[in-house]
Amino acid sequence: MSSENVRFTDFKSDKQPTWCPGCGDFGTMNGMMKALAETGNSPDDTFVVAGIGCSGKIGTYMRSYALHGVHGRALPVGTGVKLANPDLEVMVAGGDGDGYSIGAGHFIHAVRRNVDITYVVMDNRIYGLTKGQASPTSRSDFETSTSPDGPKQPPVNPLALAMAAGGSFIAQSFSSDALRHQEIVQEAIEHDGFSLVNTFSPCVTFNDVDTYDYFRDSLVDLSEDDDYDRHDYDQAKDAILDAGKEYLGVLYQDEDSTPYSEAHGVTENMAELPDGAPDGATDLVRE
Ligand code: SF4
Ligand code: MG
Repeated sequence: MSSENVRFTDFKSDKQPTWCPGCGDFGTMNGMMKALAETGNSPDDTFVVAGIGCSGKIGTYMRSYALHGVHGRALPVGTGVKLANPDLEVMVAGGDGDGYSIGAGHFIHAVRRNVDITYVVMDNRIYGLTKGQASPTSRSDFETSTSPDGPKQPPVNPLALAMAAGGSFIAQSFSSDALRHQEIVQEAIEHDGFSLVNTFSPCVTFNDVDTYDYFRDSLVDLSEDDDYDRHDYDQAKDAILDAGKEYLGVLYQDEDSTPYSEAHGVTENMAELPDGAPDGATDLVRE
């Protein structure tokens, strides 16, 4: 399929989503499809790697190459796909439980490797598929069936983790703000290096605290702040560590980001190399 005439609906598969009506994951996925079409990609140059959870079903609902990975392990698969064939647009998607709990180790190392992939985390601050347990991003007083008094520990700040690991593109989005979500994912795709888009995608069935209304009332869009400079590391650090606010937009972007493939000469489709994978790629596997 030529990318010239691709519409976002071309990224829709013929499978009917089984997400609950009103689930934030619908908006997250629509924005991803629109951003892919807008950046000139087509289903046959796109690879979606999904984790496990409600969000992990996205690879079935989108039309592209896809792999539904093991719990918490979508990022190493996405990293491998991109290094093996840099011509592919690689989108990795999963939830807060998948990415920031069992997948937390992979998350940090994927960020610091800076392979040119986009990671969209559907953050609903709960485990939805397993019917409502506290996740790494749940509030400390969030009452669930398995934590009746709340998890009693502060939530993980994924943006701070990414910054500490040397992240080159750190953004936050909201599934219900369709235009901004598309724009932010689009910028993530266009960034040269690893891009994190932590996307608030409310779980309407099990989370009655972090709701659409809550995010609509609380989110502060950094694109409306003329004094905010996403390339200013210290300003970004202050915003990311500001526990009193929830920010929307690109919080940090390293202007000098050099993706792993460029730094290590892993720029060819390995299937087409007569002598096999270059040293840079195999070094990565040995790390
Ligand atoms: Fe979405 Fe929550 Fe339903 Fe899962 S349980 S599909 S996260 S609304
Ligand atoms: Mg979740």
